Amino acid sequence: MDCIFCKIIKGEIPSYTIYEDEFIKCFLDINPSTNGDLLIVPKKHYENILDIEENIVIHIHKVSKKIYHILKERLNIDGLTLVQNNFYGQEIKHYHLHLTPRYKDDNLTQNFNKDLLDDISKTYEKLKEVNFT
Ligand code: 5GP
Ligand code: ZN
Repeated sequence: MDCIFCKIIKGEIPSYTIYEDEFIKCFLDINPSTNGDLLIVPKKHYENILDIEENIVIHIHKVSKKIYHILKERLNIDGLTLVQNNFYGQEIKHYHLHLTPRYKDDNLTQNFNKDLLDDISKTYEKLKEVNFT
């Protein structure tokens, strides 16, 4: 399979890896938004939120907590934003969680299109009374 992250996991493409275990590899994003911008990537190729196994998601989030402490200690981060893109907005079709350190005054802004926003009550009408079973 022609997947960049699978190649990184196999060591065919180099990466600045800070942690790895049986299930995941955690390396610096090649195009960081802030210092220490990281990706946690499962070693098995899952595409997105729909096909990844829940135990792997739990593991990824457990490791995120540890990484938060490491980033706090080593880079003195002020906060940490976790993002995981699916389908639209997902460049690499191999599941990954972005861990983006935040620093006061980093000006990491999201320029979203407010013209697309409906009234919140209209959105709620579409989402309420969902059967989650
Ligand atoms: P997505 O848009 O899929 O959520 O994010 C993909 C991320 O992977 C981007 O932030 C991009 O900079 C990063 N990326 C793409 N190719 C490589 C690569 O070869 N090495 C590393 N370390 N990161 C990559
Ligand atoms: Zn892959």
